[in-house]
Amino acid sequence: MRTIGLIGGMSWESTVEYYRLINRGVRDRLGPLHSARLLLDSLDFSVIAACQRAGDWDGAGALLAESARRLQAGGADCILISANTMHIVADTVAAATALPLLHIVDATGRAIHALGLDTVLLLGTAFTMEQPFFRERMRRDHAVRCLVPEPSQRAELHRVIYEELCAGQFHPQARQYLLQLIADGVRAGAQGAILGCTELGLLLGDAEAGVPVFDTAALHAAAAVDFALLERRVGFSPPLDRPANLPVG
Ligand code: GLU
Repeated sequence: MRTIGLIGGMSWESTVEYYRLINRGVRDRLGPLHSARLLLDSLDFSVIAACQRAGDWDGAGALLAESARRLQAGGADCILISANTMHIVADTVAAATALPLLHIVDATGRAIHALGLDTVLLLGTAFTMEQPFFRERMRRDHAVRCLVPEPSQRAELHRVIYEELCAGQFHPQARQYLLQLIADGVRAGAQGAILGCTELGLLLGDAEAGVPVFDTAALHAAAAVDFALLERRVGFSPPLDRPANLPVG
C-alpha cells in the first residue's frame, strides 16, 4: 500500500473527515482490520487564513510547500491539500516535491463527467467561487461549466464557512441556506452542485438536495484511496478513470 501525504488543518473539522473517509475506504476495499498508511501534516489554520485575508498567496504557498516537503521526507508517496481554497497554490505545492499532487478539481471533475453532466453550481469560499483556479481547470480539463451564486449570496456563504463551519458550528439555518443556494442554482440551469469547500459536506449531511451533489472532500479522499491501493505489478492496468498524473507500473 502506498502512503498518503495529507496537508491538513484547513480546517481541522474537514481533516477529521478526510482521515475517516480514507480509512473507511481502505477498510472497505481490503478488509475489516485494514487501515490507511497516511501521514498528516496539520497546519495552524489561523496563520493560513491571515495570509488569505491579506492576499498573501506567496506566503501561504510557502507554508504549504514546506508542509509537502515534510511529508515527502517522512515517506509519503503523494500529496493532498485538504481544502479547495488552498488549491490556489497547487502549482507551488506540486513543484516543492517530486511526488504527485492529487488535485481536488480532477477528483471532482471525473465524478461529474461520470454522470454525464456539463453545468454545475460551484459553492465554496469567495476565493474558490470568484478566482479562476477552480472554474478554469474544471472547464479546461473536464469540460464542465461552473455557475456561481449572486454576489450577496457568495458573501454570506463565505461568512458561514469562516465564522461557523471552520469554527466547528454546523447550524440547521446554515444547512437550509445551502439548500436554498442549490435550489437557486438549479433554477439558473445547474444540473448538480459542487460542495467546493471541504466543510460543506459536514453541513449538508444526508439532507436531500434534489440534484446530484459532488462533495469535494469525499471525492478527494476516494482518489487518495485509489492511489494508495494501485498495485505496482508489471502489466497492471489501472482503472480508466485514474487521476491523469498517477505514476503507473
Ligand atoms: N476548507 C475550505 C475549503 O475547502 C475552506 C478553508 C480554507 O480557506 O482553506 O476551501
